Amino acid sequence: MESNPLPGGRKGPVGTVYLVGAGPGDPDLLTLRAARLLLGASLVVHDGLVDPAILAMARPGARMVSVAKSRSRHTMKQEEINALLVREALAGNDVVRLKGGDPFVFGRGGEEAEACRAAGVPVEVVPGISSAMGAAAAAQIPLTHRDHASIVSFVAGQCKGLSDQDWSGLAGKGRTLVIFMGIATSAQITEKLIADGLAPDVPVAVIEKATCADMRVLRSSLAGLSHLVESERVQSPALIVIGDVAAENDNTIRAAALEAVQ
Ligand code: SAH
Repeated sequence: MESNPLPGGRKGPVGTVYLVGAGPGDPDLLTLRAARLLLGASLVVHDGLVDPAILAMARPGARMVSVAKSRSRHTMKQEEINALLVREALAGNDVVRLKGGDPFVFGRGGEEAEACRAAGVPVEVVPGISSAMGAAAAAQIPLTHRDHASIVSFVAGQCKGLSDQDWSGLAGKGRTLVIFMGIATSAQITEKLIADGLAPDVPVAVIEKATCADMRVLRSSLAGLSHLVESERVQSPALIVIGDVAAENDNTIRAAALEAVQ
């Protein structure tokens, strides 16, 4: 008989859905719990942001289902993903639903958990290091700093009705704004923030493929953001950090300072 290495040792007729955060990219930033669940899972449903090296940690022979290949036109609709998770769990299978970063930060984990609960399927949520934390650490940009920021906001830059969303006061003195999915809409974002009274020269950092081998950290002012995105051909996934902390660990500033003392 096959042993069930999943925590809880469920053997009942209904499987459990594990909503698991895969972290920001670097496989070393996976939690031990995520790694253990992957090793035990017979079915892994993953999205497009998960590094192949993490997928390779699943046990040999596990069924691997990709539901949202990045930049693919064959992305499964959210309702279909929910239905897949519920169907598999009701058939008795434990399912690891692996998501980039943390499942509850812009990961639609809430919707999947609701769908499972509504169908009577047990759910466990395993946190992952969100790309916001991963990017900040890798770029050495502290999201809070006693001298610069004591409030951090996470916003989605690409969502229904961006222009109608009230971002007033989210950025500015003493605050850090982290924008997910904001590359394609960077011009609108800049316009929106400047219209809200944010200074055009507030520091901005764009962190592309954070924690991955080909990570880039690019800097500009708010006014220069969309030019930077265009001229550097910034690719998804990338985060935009806006606020005084975005100037921390900036080599261009350091180089200018060094030049000034020479
Ligand atoms: N649940 C994820 C976010 C999913 S939304 C998390 O907690 O990180 C997808 C967005 O996350 C991307 O558009 C990008 O803005 C950001 N993102 C994810 N991985 C990233 C990475 N390695 N580097 C920079 N941004 C990343």
